[in-house]
Amino acid sequence: MIERKCLQCQTWNEAEDYCKNCGEALSPKALDKKREERLAAEEAAREPTKLEIYQERAKNSKYLLVRIAYHIVYSIFLFIGAIGAFLAWLTAMANG
Ligand SMILES: [Zn+2]
Repeated sequence: MIERKCLQCQTWNEAEDYCKNCGEALSPKALDKKREERLAAEEAAREPTKLEIYQERAKNSKYLLVRIAYHIVYSIFLFIGAIGAFLAWLTAMANG
């Protein structure tokens, strides 16, 4: 049986993902989830960058041409991102 000590309140827990006493994340899975939530919250609280403001403006432009151009550029970026992810996956597979 795995036992984990809560760093927050020093309570020993068994296989729980979260501390039964104070609710602190204990398992690697729960810690990952907590970190993701914090990053998402930081992302949401962040000021939009100039690029994002520009993107938003282009996306909602009254000119059809600007909106089309935005979608083309956005698709290209998505495509490049997908290739990057694929190459990273290939590398991971080759090493694994
Ligand atoms: Zn605790």
